[in-house]
Amino acid sequence: MARPVEGYFTAGLDADPKLAAAIRGELERQRNCIELIASENIVSRLVLEAQGSILANKTVEGLPYGRYYGGAEFADAIEALAIERARKLFDCRFANVQPHSGSNANAAVFMGLLKLGDRILAMNVAAGGHISHGHPATLTGRDYKIDFYGVSRASERLDLDEIRDRARICRPRIIVAGGSAYSRVIDFAGFRAIADEVGAYFMVDMAHFAGLVASGLYPNPFPHADVVTLTTYKSLRGARGGLVLWNDPSLSSKIDNGVFPGVQGSVLLHGVAGKAACLGEASRPEFMDYCRDALENAAMLATTLSQSGLRIISGGTDTTLMLVDLTSRYITGDVAATALERAGLAVNKNLIPFDPRPAEAPSGLRLSSNAGTARGFGPSQYAEIGKWIDQVLGGADQANIGVVRARVEALCRQFPIY
Ligand SMILES: *Cc1c(COP(=O)(O)O)cnc(C)c1O
Repeated sequence: MARPVEGYFTAGLDADPKLAAAIRGELERQRNCIELIASENIVSRLVLEAQGSILANKTVEGLPYGRYYGGAEFADAIEALAIERARKLFDCRFANVQPHSGSNANAAVFMGLLKLGDRILAMNVAAGGHISHGHPATLTGRDYKIDFYGVSRASERLDLDEIRDRARICRPRIIVAGGSAYSRVIDFAGFRAIADEVGAYFMVDMAHFAGLVASGLYPNPFPHADVVTLTTYKSLRGARGGLVLWNDPSLSSKIDNGVFPGVQGSVLLHGVAGKAACLGEASRPEFMDYCRDALENAAMLATTLSQSGLRIISGGTDTTLMLVDLTSRYITGDVAATALERAGLAVNKNLIPFDPRPAEAPSGLRLSSNAGTARGFGPSQYAEIGKWIDQVLGGADQANIGVVRARVEALCRQFPIY
């Protein structure tokens, strides 16, 4: 008789001390450092439990109520719940909640709506775009022709006249708005008019500002966009994953087939449950308070940094993220990020528009208030954080870093997580 090994259903992480030590190390890191990386957030215990559940055992393929495998009753209920919540939250008719990540969501849309060799017009990575929008190093860059638009040199904002000119010349099949390091409101109606003029689909990747859209604090890309993609784990404050949203029923089979079997296999059901949980949270009034606080905190951080002489790209932010130009400090983003990390401040180096420097050692840093706001920081904490960043950039010697590190840890102890 075959029996499970003793402890198989009960022992948990203790059965693997090496792995357990690394995960506990990561928990301590999250507890004791201030997370300013814009692509991160801190999820609730609810989301953590939904995502880390027995759903990891279940394989389903296809859409709810039309699966290829049996035993899908509860899987169907979970996925249908996530779809229903996504549609309500973002005020659209259709949602596919299966993409494992934002890049997969984008690849699925391209796979569904484009033919091999069709042309994409998207924001340049150097100006704040995302690599999954046709960058040559990705599958999307290999399979489609790609043209880019950037930002205006003077305003460091999108210039619809430039985008219209580009679109008229390159005649794209799809125009993509939204990026990874663009902090301003995007004129979706203006993009729609350009897409109509050249006969292109209009897609919005709202990965970074999805939470703000859910709360009505940033314009909804609908009804202007044909398709909207997003990640659930940035301002939306959920676990890692992607979504695709649309309104036109004639796009449904294209997009659904683009996801599966186009770019993915079976569903990560635990991930879908994590999405359902975060979408449920995002529909409650407390989430709007969270987003309002995150915006206020980002504004305070930007103001504090400006007052210490650090230039914020485009002069500020309309979202929870910002790009900081380090040029005046004669320090590059990689060196700055390493020094800040030693002080307990997690940030990422980033290109700034028209950066004369390479991506590995760029002129900027990208910061966000998403994660700190989730643990309860308010404007006074972000004013302090801004001063600590200034202090570390002003002198990355060991003593200085040690002083900031101690303050960071004291602040983190005041705002504990998990
Ligand atoms: C973060 C981000 C993505 C993320 O994709 P992943 O595959 O989840 O890493 C996609 N698009 C944009 C604009 C992003 O900012």
